[in-house]
Amino acid sequence: MRIWVNGGLRDADDARLSVLDHGLTVGDGIFETVRTSEGRPFALTRHLDRLTRSARGLGLPDPDHDEVRRAAAAVIDANPVALGRLRITYTGGLSPLGSDRGTDGPSLVVALDGVNRRPDSTAVITVPWTRNERGALAGLKTTSYAENVVALARARERGASEALFPNTADRLCEGTGSNVFVVLDGRIHTPPVASGCLAGITRALAVEWTGAEETDLPMDVLAEADEVFLTSTLRDVQAVHRLDDRELTPEIGPVTAKAMRIFAERSGDDLDP
Ligand code: PLP
Repeated sequence: MRIWVNGGLRDADDARLSVLDHGLTVGDGIFETVRTSEGRPFALTRHLDRLTRSARGLGLPDPDHDEVRRAAAAVIDANPVALGRLRITYTGGLSPLGSDRGTDGPSLVVALDGVNRRPDSTAVITVPWTRNERGALAGLKTTSYAENVVALARARERGASEALFPNTADRLCEGTGSNVFVVLDGRIHTPPVASGCLAGITRALAVEWTGAEETDLPMDVLAEADEVFLTSTLRDVQAVHRLDDRELTPEIGPVTAKAMRIFAERSGDDLDP
């Protein structure tokens, strides 16, 4: 595998970043995961815009979009895969212990691996831990993902593939790596960004393409929802067939199936200007 690290392509075995990189020592970094199909990145401009928003939220210098595009193109070229996960990581950079932040400017790492299509439906749990909708990191895609790792491990223990968080007001927020949608009486709802969720790129497209409404939802809406589905870059739309101990039937409800069809038709569109 060939990886872009700070200005050039390297073999994965030779790719080097300082062990004192602030991203490693304190999680001071941001990232994007972009889907590629047959070497074409999907919605790259939207991902770069979100990367910049996350950088500003953390006080990192604005990433150079041209450089990230060049790095992405080089990595895609060097690693041909049918369906790929392009990971862009941008961190505080080398920071001697005790310093606030990097002395040599930020680090940029771009890598790509091949992935399989996700199953059309999945099991999900809810976790008691909360997203902090008023926290400094709310809505930023930072590399501080340890809480998501813990929640996902809990999901795996229960035979599920995703965990849903409430926020501190016990409103529905998001998954560890996905946004959540619920269908009530034929209408699709998703928590607003003010709930503390990430402004998912797939979420925004789902709102645009399906007319889903942004609604502040109590957690117990999950007990009465007719259908639930998740969105994310690598899932597009994925139905939820089990939520904690509740089986949802049919496995893929009609409203979710329609949203999946819309994505299948449109996610090949070139969304970049
Ligand atoms: N929420 C979180 C916490 C995520 O990490 C992700 C993606 O990884 C999403 C939501 C979905 O966002 P997107 O559709 O941009 O992939």
